Amino acid sequence: MILGIIEHDRGQLNNQSLEMLTLARQVAVDEGMAVTAVLIGSNSAPLADNLTRYGVSQAIVASHGGLDDYAPEAWAETVVQIAQAKPPKAILATGTDRGNELLAHIAARLDLPLAANVTQVTVGDPYEITRVRWGGSLFEEARLYGRIKLLTVAPLTLPVREAPVDGVTVAAFTPTLDKKLFRVRVTSREAPESDKISLAEARLVVGGGRGVGSAAGFAVLEELASLLGGAVGGSRVATNLGWRPHADQVGQTGTRIAPDLYIACGISGAIQHWVGCKGAKKILAINTDPEAPMMTKADYAVVGDLHEILPALIAALQK
Ligand SMILES: Cc1cc2nc3c(=O)[nH]c(=O)nc-3n(C[C@H](O)[C@H](O)[C@H](O)COP(=O)(O)OP(=O)(O)OC[C@H]3O[C@@H](n4cnc5c(N)ncnc54)[C@H](O)[C@@H]3O)c2cc1C
Repeated sequence: MILGIIEHDRGQLNNQSLEMLTLARQVAVDEGMAVTAVLIGSNSAPLADNLTRYGVSQAIVASHGGLDDYAPEAWAETVVQIAQAKPPKAILATGTDRGNELLAHIAARLDLPLAANVTQVTVGDPYEITRVRWGGSLFEEARLYGRIKLLTVAPLTLPVREAPVDGVTVAAFTPTLDKKLFRVRVTSREAPESDKISLAEARLVVGGGRGVGSAAGFAVLEELASLLGGAVGGSRVATNLGWRPHADQVGQTGTRIAPDLYIACGISGAIQHWVGCKGAKKILAINTDPEAPMMTKADYAVVGDLHEILPALIAALQK
């Protein structure tokens, strides 16, 4: 049995689960086994039928009063109890923040190694794997040991492949969960501002870094973005200093963007920032330092003070 943990948020499927199933199915075929989808929380039960399009013929739905919203320790313990009842050959999850967190808890509980952000697997003992490292800047070949192989699947690297099956057999599972497993859980949610263009989907992003100088300094970036119908992003320095909320951070530990144009203002272009913006079709960098990596890698570079260049650009556009 190969277990594939389906990521969802209160019953809403995360599509990266379907990418995970592409790899889980390949591993299952190579092992001569079937994929069993693990659905945590009774609100996820309706997803089982949709998963038949992606080759899932067996599913386990784990129900417990506290599992309907994300709680990493409780979710992990649930999967551990499923794995103890009938040991699988491998457990796969999404390589998202949640998927990686969940499988890390499972690995710690089972005292097994975990490979995160995997793109390819050749089964055997050990598994020969390829995984994404350093924020997407290199692929690593590695061996994965363990009586149960634990791996997460790198997001946006594998296609979602349909492989319809006739139906799914659903087994119910009730874990035994101590109260302390709910120490970490979702307690409230903040809705994004509805009129704000999302960074991940914006066709144009104006990004600001340390060179912007202050939170107030971002006003000119906001003005340019609103003139061009885009969104504002920031480097980690800008978010760490509290000039922008973390949701605006572009990069390895922020959002990966893929706009038609990224205007990077006062950003040096450190590798951790670059991996988040390299998906842009064109990059225009504005920086006082012509040697900054962002300037040397950009399609267009303007050497100068962003607080002089952006107002001039806005004035020209307004004309
Ligand atoms: C594990 C890890 C994860 C990380 N994740 C991220 C991430 O997701 N995103 C991210 O951005 N960083 C991330 N970082 C941090 C990253 O390494 C850099 O420190 C950060 O990106 C630098 O931000 P910056 O370019 O704004 O600042 P700096 O590197 O200080 O660059 C400021 C730039 O502004 C220019 N400048 C100064 N004044 C002006 C002006 N008036 N006009 C024009 N240009 C000016 C300077 O010449 C300089 O090039 C991470 C680091 C680590 C270790």
